[in-house]
Amino acid sequence: MELGMNAGSSREALRRARDEAELLIASLTRDLNGVIDASLSSNADDEHDPEGATIAFERAQVASLLAGARRRLADLDAALERLDVGTYGTCERCGLPIPAERLAVRPSARTCVNCAS
Ligand SMILES: [Zn+2]
Repeated sequence: MELGMNAGSSREALRRARDEAELLIASLTRDLNGVIDASLSSNADDEHDPEGATIAFERAQVASLLAGARRRLADLDAALERLDVGTYGTCERCGLPIPAERLAVRPSARTCVNCAS
């Protein structure tokens, strides 16, 4: 596998990661709707009914996963924009190139490892 800073392969990696994030968002949205349907049909009182509390917990968990997936999608879109304007792969803090190995693991990285920690 080539690890060079090739704009074409970066774009491909970002697009692939973006597709995965979109699929995840679609599936989590279905899950969340399912949990909401379950809570509507269970007639449960979230405060006092143990089943209602479980549903509320599940809903919060799926909602938090969904928020994470949406953030990831936004990060990937921002990375694609940086690719378009030519700032992709440059650390936002110190201005040095982000190593290709880091971008391979985390295509939406905005900073080098030193600046991220
Ligand atoms: Zn840096």
